Amino acid sequence: AGAFTAAEAAAWIRRAAELVSADADRLTRLDAAIGDGDHGLNLDRGFAAAVEALPGGVPPGRVLIAAGRAIVSKTGGASGPLYGTALRRAGKALGDTEEASAAQLGEALTAAVTGIRELGGAQPGDKTMLDALTPAAEAFAASAEQGVPAAARAALEAAEQGAEATVPLVARKGRASYLGERSAGHLDPGAASSVLLLRALADVTAT
Ligand code: ADP
Ligand code: MG
Ligand code: MG
Repeated sequence: AGAFTAAEAAAWIRRAAELVSADADRLTRLDAAIGDGDHGLNLDRGFAAAVEALPGGVPPGRVLIAAGRAIVSKTGGASGPLYGTALRRAGKALGDTEEASAAQLGEALTAAVTGIRELGGAQPGDKTMLDALTPAAEAFAASAEQGVPAAARAALEAAEQGAEATVPLVARKGRASYLGERSAGHLDPGAASSVLLLRALADVTAT
């Protein structure tokens, strides 16, 4: 038990698309407060494209690479290339294994975070998606020996706390940084959507 299969990888992307679609208005409202009000729309379009692009008969890493490619090509805004790159990096890290262990999935999530940092140049504390994803990947890796379901739950909790902690921060990357001090007092929309992606992973891996 506790391995991560191609079926679960595809279910993760489908569940993420559902959660993003259900919360698209909230994500867009969060982005309207400190950005340009398109985050929900961007991700809804991107994840719908990812669902369309899901391949069959390939290992889980290939599923994530295909989803990431679709998101990069179909999602507007900063978040599309960042999330798309993250999924591609995660998929590459899984390689051609048919069933990834929890430790391997933890490494894949860490690779995803590294990809976002390299592409966007942000650090934790800059009030971005990284404030949710960095602690989430760390929590997953730290709990990996308990298996995928428990690690995914720990990652979700860490993401929720990390997202909540963006509220008082002043943005140093992305559009919100144009507001300077006025970006403080708002939840970062990308951190909020990252929670949905971790919730989707916890949902589909729950035993
Ligand atoms: P845009 O700002 O281009 O309209 P979105 O609204 O879709 O794109 O996404 C905004 C989110 O993207 C932000 O809330 C933030 O979490 C994330 N983001 C923006 N720039 C960066 C960056 N350089 N590194 C990491 N995340 C970023
Ligand atoms: Mg935006
Ligand atoms: Mg935009």
